[in-house]
Amino acid sequence: MGSIPPKLISKIAELREAVAALRRQGKTIGFVPTMGALHEGHLSLVRQAAGECGATVVSIYVNPTQFGPNEDFSKYPRALDDDLALLAGCGTAIVFTPTDATMYRPGHATWVVPGDVAEPLEGQCRPDHFRGVATIVLKLLNLVQPDAAYFGQKDFQQSLVIRRMAADLNVPVEIRVCPTVREPDGLAMSSRNRYLSPDVRRRATMLWRSLELARHRVDSGLRDAAEIVSRMRAMIDTLPGARIDYVVLVDPDTLRPVERVERPTLAALAVRIENTRLIDNCILEPRG
Ligand code: AMP
Repeated sequence: MGSIPPKLISKIAELREAVAALRRQGKTIGFVPTMGALHEGHLSLVRQAAGECGATVVSIYVNPTQFGPNEDFSKYPRALDDDLALLAGCGTAIVFTPTDATMYRPGHATWVVPGDVAEPLEGQCRPDHFRGVATIVLKLLNLVQPDAAYFGQKDFQQSLVIRRMAADLNVPVEIRVCPTVREPDGLAMSSRNRYLSPDVRRRATMLWRSLELARHRVDSGLRDAAEIVSRMRAMIDTLPGARIDYVVLVDPDTLRPVERVERPTLAALAVRIENTRLIDNCILEPRG
């Protein structure tokens, strides 16, 4: 079976018309917002959308307003031709690739400012990051008007921020969160993994191993969150060139710290290895 290339659209009017045409065919719309440099993690969302909806729209847009002044916006990987080839194999109907001028017209002055769940963790390390994320996601949702939008658990806090925004602002969309896709050695797939030298790439598996350590400790009955965190930190601290932004055990709904792991608990971490900042997380499920 040959793959059908998606329709590549960069203008808003054309996007609206193409989505309306799909609607006229009676199709439901699944939407996957991305920043491109696609990998299996992104494609798992696209496949999930394709399985649940009549047509899939993917956006590829490196949104400048979610990057801080000293972050990697200008060197963020861009690989449109490869991305389109990958999406053709997943049954994508439309790929939306707007320019900055299309998404932020001169005089743009309205922002979505997410509260509470946006404040800890990434919110502490990357001020205004979630303001940029929430604003661009709301704009894209307003343009595509999908039935469902798909996000990865890899960016757990982002998915909470989006869920809360959609609920608080009455956005008529179902938010679906899909599992993190990992490399065979456990490293969470990320467009930023392309930055890693082979040596740093090898060391980066320590993030996953520290999450596995937490899971094993919980499985063997340890409940004290501070002790689990300190074991995770000790493991990551053995990595040459690593700097921890945070390692936390928190309530997965509120992101508030927990003292004991008595209910499903989010273990989340952000670590810089040399010049690359990596995040990962998993849910710890105490038994018994
Ligand atoms: P990004 O292109 O990094 O903005 O990511 C676009 C979407 O893909 C977000 O919802 C991410 O959470 C999701 N995503 C990124 N990496 C993964 C992964 N390894 N597994 C599952 N989803 C992912």
